[in-house]
Amino acid sequence: MTYPFSLSFVVPCYNEVDNIRLFKRRAFECFDAEGISLEIVFVNDGSQDGTFELLREVVSETDPSHPMQAVQFSRNFGKEAALYAGMEAARGECICLIDADLQQTPEDALRMYKLLMDKPEYDIVAACQIERKESIVLKLFKHSFYKTFNGICTDIEIPANVSDFRVFRHAVADALLSLPEGQRFSKGLFAWVGFKTLEVPYEPDARANGESKWSVKSLFHYAANGILGFTTWPLKVAVWIGLVASLGGFVYLLWIIFEYALRGTDVPGFPTLACLILLFGGLQLTVLGVIGEYLSRSYIEGKHRPLYIAKEHLTNEESGEGEK
Ligand code: UDP
Ligand code: MG
Repeated sequence: MTYPFSLSFVVPCYNEVDNIRLFKRRAFECFDAEGISLEIVFVNDGSQDGTFELLREVVSETDPSHPMQAVQFSRNFGKEAALYAGMEAARGECICLIDADLQQTPEDALRMYKLLMDKPEYDIVAACQIERKESIVLKLFKHSFYKTFNGICTDIEIPANVSDFRVFRHAVADALLSLPEGQRFSKGLFAWVGFKTLEVPYEPDARANGESKWSVKSLFHYAANGILGFTTWPLKVAVWIGLVASLGGFVYLLWIIFEYALRGTDVPGFPTLACLILLFGGLQLTVLGVIGEYLSRSYIEGKHRPLYIAKEHLTNEESGEGEK
């Protein structure tokens, strides 16, 4: 298979209007200087800030010697869907997933690309974040997430501080694209497809413009999605909780019989019953909730909906300028 470009940048964009031009300029400057052919694939994930119009403008004004594509989603489908769409469109021999906000720099990507070229035995170079400036609570949350994930998902392991910022060979993208699941968790998917990965340290810069899109709620959702998507361990826990609770109930029953029949004690019924009903009612609802989570996920997957809807796919290729 021949690829027209050495590397494709896949850049998910959600409300990044102030970063697009900056990113494009810095990326091409850096790769032009080394004579490495670069393609940029921007994926506009339903932005509401004019990213859509700006991408149209930028694609049409960019010379075809600087190949660019812009996939425009019909609404916000999330970063994972944007990465998927970008990888589908990318035509480089290698692919780099990189954010639009320049926290992950094209210069670091170049360094990672060169490393991959120098080491044919590796398929992926993954950037590993040196200490990120975040709150203690967030650090603790992330630490416990990785500990839990790696503790219960015994067949794969995700390294604690490796980000989505990676350069990899096209075969890796093909492997990732062959996984059809709709509820994607790319850290887990990278671990699942395997391939030999080299981790390199990097320090994220401050965002060039705009704000991070992560909220506490979205982080929880992301973490739960990761765990539910890669293990059925919580379902097994439900069985164990059930067994332990039944055993506890049985022992308690024996104790009541012993107290009443042999020692003649009048065991007070109402408070005992109230506690037991609350305890087991709560347990049953929790277990049902866990089962419900898995059921709802297979219900959603069962619809086989596409990961995203693109309303426009623009390119600045000489032959087919405009829509693809
Ligand atoms: N992003 C996206 N869709 C979303 C949220 C984010 O495409 O729903 C993009 C965003 O534009 C950026 C990248 O994903 O290029 C990382 O987002 P962000 O900077 O908010 O995350 P952080 O760097 O804080 O982890
Ligand atoms: Mg960012």
